[in-house]
Amino acid sequence: MNKMRFECVHEATKKHAAEFPVPKGRPSEYFGELVFNREKMQKYLDAKTLKALLNCIDNGAQLDRDVADGVAAGMKQWAMEHGVTHCCHWFQPLTETTAEKHDSFMEYDWKGGMIEAFEGSSLVQQEPDASSFPSGGIRATFEARGYTAWDPTSPVFIMDDCLFIPTVFVSYTGESLDYKAPLKKSIKAVCEAALPICQLFDPSVSHVQSNLGWEQEYFLVDDGLYAARPDLIACGRTLMGHASAKNQQMDDHYFGQIPTRVQAFMTDLEIQGHRLGIPMKTRHNEVAPNQFEFAPIFGETNLAVDQNMLIMGVMKKVARRHGFRILLHEKPFEGINGSGKHNNWSLSTNTGVILLAPGKDPMGNLQFVTFFVNVLMALKRHGALLKASIASATNAHRLGANEAPPAIISAFLGKTMTDVMRKLLTVADDTEIVIAGKHPYDLGLVEIPAIFVDNTDRNRTSPFAFTGNRFEFRAVGSKANCSGAMTTLNSAVAEQLIDFKKLVDAELATGVSLQVACMRTLKPMIAEVLDTVCFDGNGYSDEWQREAQKRGLDTERCVPKMFLENVKPSAVDMFEKLGVFTAAELQARNEVKFETYVKLIQIEARTLGDLAINHIIPAATTYQSQLLKNVALMKSLFPQEWESLSAYEISLIKKIAGFNAEIKMKVDAMVEKRRIANRIEDAYEKAMAYYEIAESFMGIRRPIDSLEEIVDDNVWPMPKYRELLWIR
Ligand code: ADP
Ligand code: MG
Repeated sequence: MNKMRFECVHEATKKHAAEFPVPKGRPSEYFGELVFNREKMQKYLDAKTLKALLNCIDNGAQLDRDVADGVAAGMKQWAMEHGVTHCCHWFQPLTETTAEKHDSFMEYDWKGGMIEAFEGSSLVQQEPDASSFPSGGIRATFEARGYTAWDPTSPVFIMDDCLFIPTVFVSYTGESLDYKAPLKKSIKAVCEAALPICQLFDPSVSHVQSNLGWEQEYFLVDDGLYAARPDLIACGRTLMGHASAKNQQMDDHYFGQIPTRVQAFMTDLEIQGHRLGIPMKTRHNEVAPNQFEFAPIFGETNLAVDQNMLIMGVMKKVARRHGFRILLHEKPFEGINGSGKHNNWSLSTNTGVILLAPGKDPMGNLQFVTFFVNVLMALKRHGALLKASIASATNAHRLGANEAPPAIISAFLGKTMTDVMRKLLTVADDTEIVIAGKHPYDLGLVEIPAIFVDNTDRNRTSPFAFTGNRFEFRAVGSKANCSGAMTTLNSAVAEQLIDFKKLVDAELATGVSLQVACMRTLKPMIAEVLDTVCFDGNGYSDEWQREAQKRGLDTERCVPKMFLENVKPSAVDMFEKLGVFTAAELQARNEVKFETYVKLIQIEARTLGDLAINHIIPAATTYQSQLLKNVALMKSLFPQEWESLSAYEISLIKKIAGFNAEIKMKVDAMVEKRRIANRIEDAYEKAMAYYEIAESFMGIRRPIDSLEEIVDDNVWPMPKYRELLWIR
């Protein structure tokens, strides 16, 4: 390794917080200490205010002005006891990150001094000057300002010296400008659609909840090395780099011993997460070198999304303290695994039943099968739309790139549930679904296990897998806001449940039992999903590509084309019916998607061009000049034999000249393509032009990676994969 690069590593290693973070007390003692949760509400609000606020949180009641003032006063007192001086409305615009504008509590007291003030009005609503956030023309079209409005179902929290208030971001006329508002609408839709079905089985159910348990994958790199890689800084991924001799081929990183520096980071992150009320539970090494994962205990979807957005920000800050940088990009390094964010999703009732887990008795099992099959039907109807919900310029490197997930949305059921589905098709409608193992003889009954033994039957190549009491949507990108995927999934399931309920009601009207009505309705659905969206084989194989096409499943790999699904009639109809999006909102949001796609590829193209011309070619030329000098000296010293003595150097000189010329020619061609693309007005056409540009990156990268193999290590200007990929 050359001296400059060696020092980068060395500095980072020295800089890391040598002391292992020591928490104050046990996690259960400091869990949620920075969150204005129910316990704090009890302590800081009077009885009347508390009652009104809980009514608002639990039942969606309106909050009037004096209650808001009372809540704000309690929050202010609590916050100031923690040294807080500022507050902000925290929201999730379509930039895929979070936004915050801090205002101090400071106000004139009009007696010549200052006081700390925080009114209900500042808590409930604000009008940030948010004209620079992407809106896809909504703001212009509706001539509307953007407002942030408090979401009381997600608790207020403290970070550093600021009180953070989770909010939705909407236009004056009510159009969503963010991820949270549509997510909340989709949660309402799916819970309202599921409730009457649950009540057929148990009239005492009064509320259904949508749950999310995300698993966050990420890479760590040394701070110093990161600083020496302009591509990591600008794009979050490497645009070039020859493969490291050792990468993940030994499978020795996955679940391996966690490096001490990394564990110090993880412990620190967990402490911060727990203080912020995030129930972080699991941590481990992932498959690729320098790749790790953590996951909290699952919770209500809206809150779980907020916690994920929050912790992604916290991760970045904590990593710096330990001499690291976090890479949340879906594919930071070519040739090794990329990162995703598995979204474990389920529905549950206020009576404690998880609707995607087997029940306690035959009717409970029938209810489980009912929800299970309806989720599969939703997937069958809207698979392409679900893929659009997770598609992005960055996630495109995973989709269909021979790694989880394939670019075809299918569901993995496992052998047990596949057998159950097949059996259900053959039995009489009044056959009970019983718990397996309780009947010594085969009575021709449909049997399911009381619980699924997890992990026994895993298929990592499936984008949507049943894992015992939930479905795991694995295609979500590691840096994505989970809301996009969850809004679409909730909506698709809501639409399907509404349709199912109508069919069951029609059967019930003929006087048959609930069991028979459900089975009659479910059977054709089971046959349909088994023939289409259910697939337990290898999702990466070429046969699956062909088979999926035969089954009529969507196999599109081009991201801008995937986005078109968002505005197809079936999608618009579904979202409008459920009140999640209007057609205008969908159109506008797609504009943003196209624009974002173009900008990301544009940044990568510029960075790649810059590195190729300003870093790589000059370094290669420096080495080439050394070789030329060597050859010239050979010639003067050994006038007879110089040609054979210098044969190797001469071949290298020629190779370098060849690669340099190839790089320059290809970069010029790419710049020309960009010039043409930039003149395109139509957002979709422009995105398609940039898609072609992205496709040309590999052609530029290959000769660069070949140069890396032959150029003197001492003159190579950037840290190499073999240095980036191993924490020291
Ligand atoms: P894996 O074996 O898939 O890597 P992990 O333990 O890393 O599993 O994460 C599983 C996630 O799924 C956790 O967040 C867990 O709380 C969540 N989970 C478990 N059961 C459910 C459920 N019924 N609904 C939603 N999420 C769930
Ligand atoms: Mg996991």
